[in-house]
Amino acid sequence: MRILITGAAGFLGSHLGDALLAEGNAVVGVDNLSTGSLNNLKHLANEPRFEFREHDICTPFDVGAVDYVFNFASPASPVDYARLGVETLEVGSVGTTNALNIAKKYGAKFLHASTSECYGDPDVHPQTEDYWGHVNPIGPRSVYDEAKRFSEALTMAYHRYYGVDTRLVRIFNTYGPRLQKNDGRVISNFMVQALKGEDLTVYGEGEQTRSFCYVSDEVAGILGLSRTDEHLPVNVGNPNEWTILDCAKTVLKVTGSSSKIVYHPLPQDDPSQRQPDISKAKRLFGWEPKIDLETGLRLSLEYFNSVVDVELQA
Ligand code: UDP
Repeated sequence: MRILITGAAGFLGSHLGDALLAEGNAVVGVDNLSTGSLNNLKHLANEPRFEFREHDICTPFDVGAVDYVFNFASPASPVDYARLGVETLEVGSVGTTNALNIAKKYGAKFLHASTSECYGDPDVHPQTEDYWGHVNPIGPRSVYDEAKRFSEALTMAYHRYYGVDTRLVRIFNTYGPRLQKNDGRVISNFMVQALKGEDLTVYGEGEQTRSFCYVSDEVAGILGLSRTDEHLPVNVGNPNEWTILDCAKTVLKVTGSSSKIVYHPLPQDDPSQRQPDISKAKRLFGWEPKIDLETGLRLSLEYFNSVVDVELQA
């Protein structure tokens, strides 16, 4: 197949590209590099089945005929989407429209990267796909949450009105090599802080929870969904739920760091709990994650060591 990935230079987009290339597909990657990095693609420099185009998908584009579109372009860390608020809303609306138009034009299948943020600060726990969510539509996270919720509505509309063969994956917290070291996410912050011997910054009391999925598990789940005919949203994440404080302690254990834990104010609208119910993914495509947090952090150690080394040498 010839496959388009928007956001191909990002954390998930680049891992997805690797997996699709490894299966023998040709991949066209599009990215405006606003939060993605060419570093994530440099190992593909001599890969003839990979083509990169630097382009902002908010401007209409055409890469020629494709069989599948994976729409992964968007700032995704709370720090990035707070900085790029309007851009985040644009890529979720205008950019996603342009990506859907490519799928419509070429009769390609389409998979949109949605998010657990569609559930907001959930009062149903764990979150099932039929839960409509508890989202602040005007708060600091709204630029991301509402962009992604709009993208879901738009994707369903292209399916219902134009017959585009669409899928929606709701991605929960994912981590691993190629996370930007300064994207402000909890795993990248804690790993970098631990390896540099700096204090680990726990926000609030650290009692809020997240459920962390290692990137290879996440990509396997996304590919599993891509091969089904399910048009309604499907959660893909690791249901193993951690408090942020226990996550910090696990990072200290894995890195062998003697850094201290310090407490900073909790950001506004920070969800107090998050855990995917993955029964639908299990039932539809027999997927469940294999890698627990401690193992995944060990697998990520070499990468975070290398980015910290580069920073210390600079
Ligand atoms: N967090 C933290 N310290 C940090 C970064 C994040 O305690 O240095 C917390 C944050 O408040 C949130 C959780 O970790 O409760 C996950 O944050 P992240 O930015 O990774 O993504 P989110 O799941 O909130 O989208």
